[in-house]
Amino acid sequence: MIFNGIIKINIKKINILSINYKKFLILLIILGEKPFRAKQIMNYIYNFYINDLNLINNINKKILNKIKKILNIKNIKIYKIIYSNDGTIKFIMKIDKQRIETIYIPEKYRATLCISSQIGCFVGCKFCLTGKQGFNRNLYISEIISQILNVKKIIKKKKLKNITNIVFMGMGEPLLNFKNVVSSILIIVDKYCLNFSKYRITLSTVGIIPALKKLKNIIDINLALSLHFTNNKIRNNLIPINNKYNIKNILKASKEYINNSKVNKNGLTIEYVMLKNVNDNTKDVYKLISILKNIPCKINLIPFNNFLKSKFICSTKKKINTFFKILKKNGFIVTIRKKRGNDINASCGQLSGKILNRIN
Ligand code: SAH
Ligand code: SF4
Repeated sequence: MIFNGIIKINIKKINILSINYKKFLILLIILGEKPFRAKQIMNYIYNFYINDLNLINNINKKILNKIKKILNIKNIKIYKIIYSNDGTIKFIMKIDKQRIETIYIPEKYRATLCISSQIGCFVGCKFCLTGKQGFNRNLYISEIISQILNVKKIIKKKKLKNITNIVFMGMGEPLLNFKNVVSSILIIVDKYCLNFSKYRITLSTVGIIPALKKLKNIIDINLALSLHFTNNKIRNNLIPINNKYNIKNILKASKEYINNSKVNKNGLTIEYVMLKNVNDNTKDVYKLISILKNIPCKINLIPFNNFLKSKFICSTKKKINTFFKILKKNGFIVTIRKKRGNDINASCGQLSGKILNRIN
């Protein structure tokens, strides 16, 4: 645009929430600023939850104005907060005209934050509400980081238990948003950003082989594989991407990831959703034992969480316990996932990304 002979170029500003400390430092140095400013500003963002550069009042306005020319801080907005009777909190956040969900799950000695990586999900698993609602788009790095910052700010205000663990188990398949998920993990573990230990981050995936191969050379975090079925025909049908990445190959790629890993020294986590008359027969448990025999792993049985118009039913407690006992007897470490936030539809597979026409 030209005004009075002056050319004005509109530069798209960089959101500080989308870069790690090193990148931020380089940008400040390019701007001619002192390196210590990088730590100072990151401290305001990540420890005092400042979400507007104008609110930093002990940095000279001239310096801030220079920084503001190319950088800003943009958080996503919280649309609604819903509290469960068991302490779980669902944060619905607004992005464009869509919404995503982030779940805070406090326990006795820890508090887990379950974050989303996509609006909707591309994979379309038949037993998952997110999958049933289709795919809208990948979340940007800043949108992944904003979920954590927004929740941290509120739980601090409410004096609730600090987040100790972060799991990529919300809406979306994290490995189909590879670049942004990896960059956000690097910000989550960055000492000057969210400063989380990699031992406290878990990524759950249906098994995207090329992404698993790349991931092992970039970052070591806890890996959970949503295996759920031992038979390719059933898995093809219920997790359609199995047609491309089948059971044998996803197990091989996951094994290669954990072989390289210090974080997963107790093995891979295998997730197994319990669906009545689909995958809960005694023959299924023995098949599971046989395909996992050479894979260091622990097994997490997930009672199916129901949602409106779902075709599936959760296996009976008796069936789940039988599975549990047989797996244990065969030497596996097994857990049964506790249902949390079920009364507010905040459990696995119940997160909905549907378009909210009511939001303006
Ligand atoms: N897309 C990733 C992570 C998000 S889903 C993945 O699929 O692994 C987190 C976990 O919830 C996965 O193991 C998923 O299979 C499981 N899940 C999905 N729908 C569910 C439902 N209705 N009941 C119980 N678990 C479900
Ligand atoms: Fe996507 Fe995971 Fe749901 Fe499957 S289970 S549709 S991969 S979020």
